[in-house]
Amino acid sequence: MNVPVLNPSPETAPQPIDPLDHLADHLFHRMGSDGVYARTALYEDIVERLALLITRHRDAGTEVMRFPPVMSRAQLEKSGYLKSFPNLLGCVCGLHGTEREIQAAVSRFDAGGDWTRSLSAVDLVLSPAACYPVYPIAASRGALPKGGLRFDVAADCFRREPSRHLDRLQSFRMREYVCIGTPDDVSAFRERWIERAQGIAGDLGLDFWVDQASDPFFGRVGQMMAVTQKQQSLKFELLVPLRSEAQPTACMSFNYHREHFGATWGILDANGEPAHTGCVAFGMDRLAVALFHTHGIDVSAWPPAVRDGLGLAQHAAKADGGVSA
Ligand code: 5GP
Ligand code: ZN
Repeated sequence: MNVPVLNPSPETAPQPIDPLDHLADHLFHRMGSDGVYARTALYEDIVERLALLITRHRDAGTEVMRFPPVMSRAQLEKSGYLKSFPNLLGCVCGLHGTEREIQAAVSRFDAGGDWTRSLSAVDLVLSPAACYPVYPIAASRGALPKGGLRFDVAADCFRREPSRHLDRLQSFRMREYVCIGTPDDVSAFRERWIERAQGIAGDLGLDFWVDQASDPFFGRVGQMMAVTQKQQSLKFELLVPLRSEAQPTACMSFNYHREHFGATWGILDANGEPAHTGCVAFGMDRLAVALFHTHGIDVSAWPPAVRDGLGLAQHAAKADGGVSA
């Protein structure tokens, strides 16, 4: 008997397999939303080791600051974020008003209705990148010293880009080194970091290359901004071919903002000119996913040099009661 072969309906059709999917069960627990995951101990241990590795490469004289996952809405607005990426921004909302009004929203929910109609924005947004809050803090300190300032910052970042791909999260960790100074200070900083970051990626045993890039600016005006950004070589990325060489994943970025933040926040360099700024951003979650994708989920089988760089070799020796060199 011939069994008719039916085309699966769109709802039951299997999702196309992504090359990173095999990692999901080992690294993450689903939390009911694409791109927002709880992390396993296996994964988190590697993220922590990556953070230590990045710390070991920090320039002397760098000031450390850690930011919460939210920041001032007014500061992000003033930074020009709405001109560039309004589609990616997450804004904190709350139920405001009298007890009666708030109770009415809850009752609507209890009756199966939509309570969120009563929400209104508060003065906070979810930080879309780690470095935004550092510029107003630097500005509050007055003119820059000769040689400028360097910061080590980090935050949990949010970008509203739901995706099933494990290298495109809505909530992800970003670590950054930031330089605020003269154009020469910032150029030297960025050159140095483009070199140093390739050393780090090499030590991690990743396939990678560095290329010019542009940000995904919103809309048609945004397309023109992206062209200018490329023409002026303002952004480079360290790309890892996780999926394919044609669609590599940016695991680090090297950004030159020229005088954008200096002029916005009134930061003057040691010569009295608007300060220039630049940052190198490490996508901690992307780097961790890249490591597991490249070397497998059995960390004990990772190449010895990679284990060594992450402090795993010493760890194993100590656990065995051995002495590390
Ligand atoms: P950028 O500000 O250059 O877009 O992002 C800085 C770094 O954050 C990127 O190089 C990347 O490593 C990380 N990043 C950006 N978007 C995402 C994302 O959607 N998911 C994850 N996991 N990391 C991201
Ligand atoms: Zn930055």
